[in-house]
Amino acid sequence: MTGVKIDERCQGHGQCYQLFPQMFEPDEEGYGLVRPDATIKDNNLLHNNLLDDAVACCPENAIVIVDSGA
Ligand code: SF4
Repeated sequence: MTGVKIDERCQGHGQCYQLFPQMFEPDEEGYGLVRPDATIKDNNLLHNNLLDDAVACCPENAIVIVDSGA
C-alpha cells in the first residue's frame, strides 16, 4: 500500500491541505496531517500524478512517500 507521511520538517505552511484536501488536513495549530484514509491505492491518486505534485508542494520537503509493501 502506497501512502505518504509528514515528517518533523513540517512548518505548518498549509500548502498541502489547501491544495490536496483529499490527502491532508490541518491539526489545531495548522500543521499538516495525513488523512487517515489517504491511501494512494484506494483513491487513484497515483494514476493522476497527484502524489508527485503533493510531495513537491511542500516547501520544507516534509512530505515523504511511504510504501508498506502490503
Ligand atoms: S505544506 Fe509542508 S510544511 Fe506546510 S503544512 Fe504541509 S507538510 Fe507542513
